[in-house]
Amino acid sequence: MKIRLFGDPILRKKSRIVEDFEYVRSIRDEMLKIMYLEDGVGLAAPQIGVSLRFFAMDDGNGPLIIINPEIIEHSNEKELGEEGCLSLPGIFADVNRYKWVKLKYQDEYGNVHERLFEGYSARIVQHERDHLDGILFIDHLPSNIRKQLSPELTKIMRMRLEETK
Ligand code: ZN
Repeated sequence: MKIRLFGDPILRKKSRIVEDFEYVRSIRDEMLKIMYLEDGVGLAAPQIGVSLRFFAMDDGNGPLIIINPEIIEHSNEKELGEEGCLSLPGIFADVNRYKWVKLKYQDEYGNVHERLFEGYSARIVQHERDHLDGILFIDHLPSNIRKQLSPELTKIMRMRLEETK
């Protein structure tokens, strides 16, 4: 299992709904291991080459596996905060996100949960959920900032091509 870098087409695909929860359970531990090893606070399935709607996260309160997430309610207000992404190494930028989101999701046993995430945790949830629709945090940036990042993005794409040679 390897982290897919910017430029990999799987990062731009819309992931499919999870129906096989046993499969998620079978890769859960390895996924968390990679996330912690890379000092990430979240890791979405497409980032490890699996085009399914789930992600791992740890906002400081222990590991969570979030499957088939849906934001069912959110704050009116948004706030800016810095984000990075394991698929975009070395790139950090401020992104506007809802202050809180209410999430409906399933755990790795298929049980349905509803949970309120606030602040930093809400930011992780929104970032990771975006991955399931092929959206990256840089897509939320104003075009001038995105332009500034362009040489860095090209570097990552080159790095990826070197790796896949
Ligand atoms: Zn990410």
